[in-house]
Amino acid sequence: MDAQNLTARLKSSGLLRSQALIGGKWIDAYDGKTIKVHNPATGEVITEVPCMGSKETNDAISSSYDAFYSWSKRTAAERSRHLRKWYDLLIAHREELGQLITLEQGKPLTEAMGEVTYGANFIEFFSEEAKRVYGDIIPSPLADRRLLVLKQPVGVVGAITPWNFPLAMITRKVGPALACGCTVIIKPSEFTPLTALAAAELALQAGIPPGAVNVVMGNASDIGDALLASPQVRKITFTGSTAVGKKLMAGASATVKKISLELGGNAPCIVFDDADIDVAVKGALGAKFRNSGQTCVCANRIIVQEGIYEKFADAFSKAVQNLKVGDGFSEGVAQGPLINEAALHKVESFVQDALSKGAKVLLGGKRHSLGRTFYEPTVLSDVKSEMLISREEVFGPVAPLLRFKTEEEAIRMANDTNAGLAAYIFTNNVQRSWRVTEALEYGLVGVNEGLISTEVAPFGGIKQSGLGREGSKYGIDEYLELKYMCLGNMTGN
Ligand code: NAP
Repeated sequence: MDAQNLTARLKSSGLLRSQALIGGKWIDAYDGKTIKVHNPATGEVITEVPCMGSKETNDAISSSYDAFYSWSKRTAAERSRHLRKWYDLLIAHREELGQLITLEQGKPLTEAMGEVTYGANFIEFFSEEAKRVYGDIIPSPLADRRLLVLKQPVGVVGAITPWNFPLAMITRKVGPALACGCTVIIKPSEFTPLTALAAAELALQAGIPPGAVNVVMGNASDIGDALLASPQVRKITFTGSTAVGKKLMAGASATVKKISLELGGNAPCIVFDDADIDVAVKGALGAKFRNSGQTCVCANRIIVQEGIYEKFADAFSKAVQNLKVGDGFSEGVAQGPLINEAALHKVESFVQDALSKGAKVLLGGKRHSLGRTFYEPTVLSDVKSEMLISREEVFGPVAPLLRFKTEEEAIRMANDTNAGLAAYIFTNNVQRSWRVTEALEYGLVGVNEGLISTEVAPFGGIKQSGLGREGSKYGIDEYLELKYMCLGNMTGN
């Protein structure tokens, strides 16, 4: 696909925006500064967007604060209708949004279109949940009193999101926030602001009022600090690295804000001797290589029982060898580029560390001949728990294979990390699947399945992988406050 033609077409569709959105108006940075947005597959500049800081963020906070009073007073049915309209528009523009994701993020177009459906589904789901924010009536211990619990929106929300899912990480925050009456300031990653801006344009078209959804981007720490400092911002919801999440958690304490954190993972994928090998290979492949290994739920350690290790390593390497690497717009491509040079260097250094400590390359192990940030899909064997690649997220297309003997050892190895987001197990033993799931210190467990994310199930981590849950009926609670109301003198006339 010709990138220039595509950019021109996206511009004429009105979905390629190069200004930020504050109070319903598209605006530049106040000092005119911009950031270039690149196509990671080619290095070409797609467009420039405003490089904003605290002044613009404070204005976005004010507009969000003003909008909160009217948006939160609308009926749940009205908010639901606007969200449903937004969902319909996202789906109607699925192709353009998918193209934008591939253009700025690099993932293959089919995967990008899948993200649009997944991302839009959060808006549909929460358009329905908007109508189900029920309160409670508590049996009173005193005859003359009636006790009630009201659920009310927390207020203005700052939503800070990463580059690896430029749409879905936004919709799973903004969907529940708007559904219950909150208003939002979105801060997308500087690498992928275009999908966020397109989604915001469609939110305006859906009749979501000016100020209810704002998008600012630029100097991340200035924007973050302004959101943290403002007493008008009542909640921060963040998806990204554990290091930045910890900073935000500390910063939120000054104004005692609510905070939800979706942070990094270090997912174990345990393959037992009794697994169906085809199911395990397919599951591990999906869990590891989706988005070129750049997801928080990517299998980071494939832990294989000794009886099936050689057979699995062979079948898995053959499957990985079939993954076509290239520009996400090319037919049949399953692996796009890494997001940037820093990501490439991280992958290289982790592989070097593993090799220097005794790991072996079964496949790949180097930069791809396409150059830029393309890396060969890689399988390493003889990986040990103490290697860097087992300790931290590699966030790239490298599958390290580790060996274990007993179920107890596999559980110990899997839990030997500060992360606790996703885990996968492959076994045909039903009792074992329950036993191991219960023993794993993780927020999500896939049994005989590598792709487990859906808007209807709670997504989130334990330990240092985060706080709170997104999606599902539980996700909306993160944006609600409980208010206890005591009605006295209820026995009088
Ligand atoms: P990141 O560097 O932490 O960035 C995430 C967001 O935070 C970006 O918008 C970034 O802005 C912003 N940011 C950076 N420094 C900030 C600061 N001091 N104050 C406020 N905001 C700040 O993470 P990433 O590299 O984009 O994303 C990859 C990480 O996200 C991985 O660790 C992955 O596991 C995690 N992740 C977790 C989940 C989950 O659900 N648990 C889902 C997806 C990804 P700029 O990009 O503009 O600098």
